[in-house]
Amino acid sequence: MSLPARRFPVLRTLSCKSFHTSASTKALGALAQPKAEQISKNWKGTSATGGSTKNFIGGEFVESKSAEWIDVHDPSTQTVLTRVPQTTDSEFKEAVDAASQAFKTWSRTSVLTRQRFVFELQHLLRQNADDIAHSIVLEQGKTLADAHGDLLRGLQVAETAAAVTSTLLGDKIEVSKDMDTYVRKVPLGVCASIAPFNFPAMIPLWTIPMAAVTGNTLILKPSERDPGAAMIIAELCQKAGLPPGVLNVVHGGVPTVNAICDDPAIRAISFVGGDKAGKHIYDRGTQNGKRVQANMGAKNHAILMPDANKNLAINSIIGAAFGAAGQRCMAISVAVIVGDTSVWLPTLIERAQALQVNGGFEKGADIGPLISPFAKDRVTSLIASAEKDGGKILLDGRNVKTPEKYPYGNFVGPTIIQGGTNMQCYQQEIFGPALVVLQADTLDDAIEIINNNKYGNGAAIFTQSGATARRFETEVNAGQLGINVPIPVPLPMFAWSGNKGSVLGDIGFYGKSGINFYTQNKTTTSLWKAEDAVGNRASVNMPTHH
Ligand code: NAD
Repeated sequence: MSLPARRFPVLRTLSCKSFHTSASTKALGALAQPKAEQISKNWKGTSATGGSTKNFIGGEFVESKSAEWIDVHDPSTQTVLTRVPQTTDSEFKEAVDAASQAFKTWSRTSVLTRQRFVFELQHLLRQNADDIAHSIVLEQGKTLADAHGDLLRGLQVAETAAAVTSTLLGDKIEVSKDMDTYVRKVPLGVCASIAPFNFPAMIPLWTIPMAAVTGNTLILKPSERDPGAAMIIAELCQKAGLPPGVLNVVHGGVPTVNAICDDPAIRAISFVGGDKAGKHIYDRGTQNGKRVQANMGAKNHAILMPDANKNLAINSIIGAAFGAAGQRCMAISVAVIVGDTSVWLPTLIERAQALQVNGGFEKGADIGPLISPFAKDRVTSLIASAEKDGGKILLDGRNVKTPEKYPYGNFVGPTIIQGGTNMQCYQQEIFGPALVVLQADTLDDAIEIINNNKYGNGAAIFTQSGATARRFETEVNAGQLGINVPIPVPLPMFAWSGNKGSVLGDIGFYGKSGINFYTQNKTTTSLWKAEDAVGNRASVNMPTHH
């Protein structure tokens, strides 16, 4: 069976009379409408009521002159919230020029000034958390509580970035009498950040504070599917005192990405998204001499041992498999049951079935819609492929009852598929609310399954045995491990540490790695002879460092 290839949202030209599609005649839900109006009223860079998303260049929110625009739909109702420009070549050039100019002064501001910016930013992010979360629910579809979590995990990066006065400390040693060598971590220059749709606040916040606090300037390209949170964050950066040009936001799809990869003024690219784009950006960026970090797709396994705390394990797996409708790169998408599956499956199915599928603003909603009708088609096709591959669909989310208020939503319910590693739905990242259940006879077999998988973002084990947990963490080859913890993404004092096919590039996001990614070492060796202070004889001997 062949699945449809990943498609870009339809670009519309302004001359196209059908710009307002039939979808745009659909209305937002009653809970969403006032929030959408509030966002359009409060923020310069975005709209949630059918207006447009602006470029942010040199400290100004400017309407693009583009002839090509991309509609952003509410995934619960298909209402058009905003249209995003395919930023033009000359606008892109202006953004890079603004960032290059700003670098000259921003890179020379004191580290305390840059630290003060992140202090102020974290405060403003908290103060404006509701608007950011509302924008995420509207454009991305996740539930309100989950949208706040999206922001919080980014905000924690800003908070950790405030430690820059310690993390930038360099090494120094007297290598010879009166001769010192010391290292300074200096900024790279203009950097770029390309974000995916699934964490519209968190991912821009993985890069903005880290790039700025280390003295770089940044071109951000949010996902063209949900740029609203990034635009609010950009305005908050300005309010937090970030000078014009230090952060610029441009929009669009492949043309903007390629312009980023090719522009000689851009020194480094941070990418988070799918495998195809990640590989393309890594290859093209590094061929052009840039530093590139690329976080990509995943297939995260959780091993269920017979001795596990059943209640904790089942609730953890359900949350991690179906939360955010499975659209998380650290979602648990595979449960590997060691031993007797009948101990686990009935409760797993029963609790998954109890999750409420609904619009993200609705009280009690557990699972919102997928990002687009295309994503829904792709996920349901992958579920359908399971039976052809010999799998058994134990819980079928394709038949989920569509919430009455949201007949046009891209909803798929929790799905549980039992089968083997040959299934297409095991081999591909589903990125939907679908959990594949495999069975293994022993812990070793379960670990082997994980190690044979091409991805390596994360893995978890549920057990009451320290020895079993120890064996798991020693033997398993994945980068972020959880022991009785389902989504083991470390807090940002640590760096992102996904491995194997889930990453390209050697330097991880945030933490100490983030500082290293956004700086280069400059060493100076200086000689200030103490005896010269009183004007003594010159030495003609070869320096030997003794
Ligand atoms: P995506 O690859 O479609 O898009 C990501 C970005 O790349 C967007 O800004 C998009 O405009 C651009 N892009 C898309 N296709 C491109 C192409 N062919 N050439 C150049 N640029 C292109 O990803 P998505 O659907 O927005 O996000 C979901 C994916 O992101 C999943 O695979 C998920 O696992 C991954 N993800 C990974 C992490 C991580 O840290 N490992 C975190 C979040 C999401």
